[in-house]
Amino acid sequence: MPKMYGWVREVVPESLADRAGLQPGDLIRTINGHLVRDLVDYRFYSAEEELTISFARQEHEQEVHIVKTFDENLGVLFGEEPAPFIRQCANKCVFCFIKGLPERFAPQPGLAHGMRASLYIKDDDYRYSFLFGNFITLTNLKERDWQRLDEQKLTPLYVSVHTTDPELRRRMVDGPRAGEIIEHIQRLGSMHLTCHTQLVLCPTINDGPHLDSSIREEAEVIVDQVEHYQRHFAADNADGGKGAYVEAERNGADIASGVGEPFAYLSDEWYYLTKREFPSAKHYGSYAQIENGVGMTRYLIDQWARTKQRLPTSLPNPRRVTLVTGTMALPVIRELAEDMSKVERLEVQILPVVNQFFGAEVTVAGLLCGHDVLAALEENQNLGDLVLLPRVMLNNEGVRFLDDLTVAEFKQRVPVQVEFVRNAQETIEAIRLLGVSDTVDALSSS
Ligand code: SF4
Repeated sequence: MPKMYGWVREVVPESLADRAGLQPGDLIRTINGHLVRDLVDYRFYSAEEELTISFARQEHEQEVHIVKTFDENLGVLFGEEPAPFIRQCANKCVFCFIKGLPERFAPQPGLAHGMRASLYIKDDDYRYSFLFGNFITLTNLKERDWQRLDEQKLTPLYVSVHTTDPELRRRMVDGPRAGEIIEHIQRLGSMHLTCHTQLVLCPTINDGPHLDSSIREEAEVIVDQVEHYQRHFAADNADGGKGAYVEAERNGADIASGVGEPFAYLSDEWYYLTKREFPSAKHYGSYAQIENGVGMTRYLIDQWARTKQRLPTSLPNPRRVTLVTGTMALPVIRELAEDMSKVERLEVQILPVVNQFFGAEVTVAGLLCGHDVLAALEENQNLGDLVLLPRVMLNNEGVRFLDDLTVAEFKQRVPVQVEFVRNAQETIEAIRLLGVSDTVDALSSS
């Protein structure tokens, strides 16, 4: 029997579902006669204005009727993953990150039991792409999946292209129908589905001329951009192995002027590598790929500029803060630290952590393991009063590092206060709270 989706974990008090009589523990089976296979189905079918929901309660089948407005939420929270079975990938990509992980449950030096369990899941699931922006290759879609994409208009999707050359993509991705990527993108377009694509560049494999033609072909799929694209696009290999693509980005705004946003973006890493200035917020438009490291730095810089006046002018007592970062973002973190250092009686030190686990060339904070961070902190003799770390180092729930080290274990081993921050506001708030705690201490001892 297929694993079911639809166990209700919680019903929001006074919500539509609560008033209709749904309860925790109910198993929602159908909405308006449609089977609820996963969260996507639930969201799709529950968007209607008149609903008949069939559910099982202690093995008795029951039904409720709900009338609502189109976008009104029912108030049901599910107690399981968004789909009973996550669709695994059928590929063997040359650069697959998972291949390089230590075996799960095989003890490694410094690691009790391999890395975080979720890292071992080779997901390639269009539902997760739609719900969470996960990148998919489209190689495992069956005809019924395409029909569902069309019927439920699952848009936008996030697609790993890497190259549009069929032969090269077959070699790079090594999955079923990997060579049909342009046809697949065209098919999504014919269904009026938006797709954001990414090309992960592997030196000497899909960069240089391959990159040129991949960009060109992707642009050609969007017919009215071809003219702009051909006029402005020019690859620049002057940065050698590092870059090759700076010029194309510079023309990005022009390339896409037909739709008001650039067509091709560089990930932040390229700007750090080539030491070029980050483009303005206008360039990034709606920041559609910010979670993928495209525009994250510009967003942070602007957010910091807007909020830094909320930093206190001084603290009641001398305090020292350690800012932990990956090595890549160091130049920007230095600028933030400079502003923080203007707060009277606040001393700021930056601790860039070298990635020992994956190698020093992996420089982003999001790929640092907890043990590497711990080792760097333990080496440091004066962490001060507060250690601030980027929240991106942790999983979605904010409880585990990549190497399965829990935040609770981590905090036990760091002798000073530790906070994980997502953005400029949370960073500033942590500094402000340092001052507040001093004030409270002073009041309680007076
Ligand atoms: S699609 Fe992702 S998980 Fe699958 S082989 Fe390629 S890189 Fe690895």
